[in-house]
Amino acid sequence: MVNKHMTSGRDAARAQISGPDPADCVPRTLVILGATGSIGRSTAQILELHPDRFRVAAVAGGRDAESLARTAVALDAAFAALADASRYAELKAALAGTGIECAAGPEAVAEAARRPCDLVIGAIAGTAGMMPTFAAIEAGRLIALANKETLVCAGDAVMAAVARHGARLLPLDSEHNAIFQALGDTDWTTIERMTLTASGGPFRNWSAEQIAAATLDQALAHPNWSMGPKVTIDSAGLINKGLELIEAHYLFGVAAERLDVVVHPQSVVHGLVSFADGSVTAGLALPDMRVPIAHCLTYPHRIESGARKLDLAVVGTLTFDKPDLDRFPGLRIAMDALREGRGLPTVFNAANEIAVDGFVARRIGFSDIARIVEQVCDAALADGTASTPAGIADALAVDHVARERAAALLH
Ligand code: MG
Repeated sequence: MVNKHMTSGRDAARAQISGPDPADCVPRTLVILGATGSIGRSTAQILELHPDRFRVAAVAGGRDAESLARTAVALDAAFAALADASRYAELKAALAGTGIECAAGPEAVAEAARRPCDLVIGAIAGTAGMMPTFAAIEAGRLIALANKETLVCAGDAVMAAVARHGARLLPLDSEHNAIFQALGDTDWTTIERMTLTASGGPFRNWSAEQIAAATLDQALAHPNWSMGPKVTIDSAGLINKGLELIEAHYLFGVAAERLDVVVHPQSVVHGLVSFADGSVTAGLALPDMRVPIAHCLTYPHRIESGARKLDLAVVGTLTFDKPDLDRFPGLRIAMDALREGRGLPTVFNAANEIAVDGFVARRIGFSDIARIVEQVCDAALADGTASTPAGIADALAVDHVARERAAALLH
């Protein structure tokens, strides 16, 4: 129930502090990279709740021309770009008569990323998201970044480019978004520890032997989060949490030894920040990507996300455990790569993408993913190919070698 006095009092106080904000009234123009994926679809659901609040300058997708065309029409986008150039005719036919401009191929996706807008949603999965994200950075945009591989693969180069081009990043990954919200306007130099929570995934209570024999369907059955296949498989082996630690390191500039993971099966607390005075702030919400997406869409203002609201009395119990690095070696290998630094995170990410592809193609077992990633990281350490990437081109060269090595280990 709304208390009228409280509402009007609060509104009056707010008007005194900040005055009416034009951003409250003017529609925001968006570019959505990865519009047909899990984050893209959740973004579209929020936009439907606020039809007058957003305009869509461009949408970009990977291979599914029909789904991209449908999304472009539903969001009334001005431009649709498909990464797969071989499906251009299909896209053009599906958009015939709509007045929506379209193009296909990697350059078309980069063009979508450069279209003038107030906010880019960077939600292309995997390393494929790197060049489009970089195009948006070079255009000096505000980018809500869900694609963690961009930062993991070339963190130093990306953050330097963000500063150079006057771009800004908003963390869209749920854990990083929670931490960003928990940070508020506190002095970042007083941060003692950042903690990311992990649900533990579908294999949280499985033995090492059971995990080794896990099937693709079992790895895809995440208990709490609805996500794309790559991140779901990464989550099952806690490799996703490893990638997120590396992402947090670059995003917030926090040293490896101040970053921590705790297993929290309820996925209600997403991230915590511990400060010098002993205070801990945290970001909480039910596990629904619409919450961090909505936070980014109108940041620093807030809108209805359509997600269910958290009732702690209904949730009842929140539990926390240390991650088991023996049963989930992928997280240990990621932590080692982060501590080692230089090009090791790049190698880790590349080898993991190839290994996950191999698991999806049923060429290797689940535990082979971490084994292959570790072998490729060890090989890079041994022969010195994991030097610090000076820029995106360097990072892609390190990435390329690691991919070839990982591919040779798929059998
Ligand atoms: Mg996450």
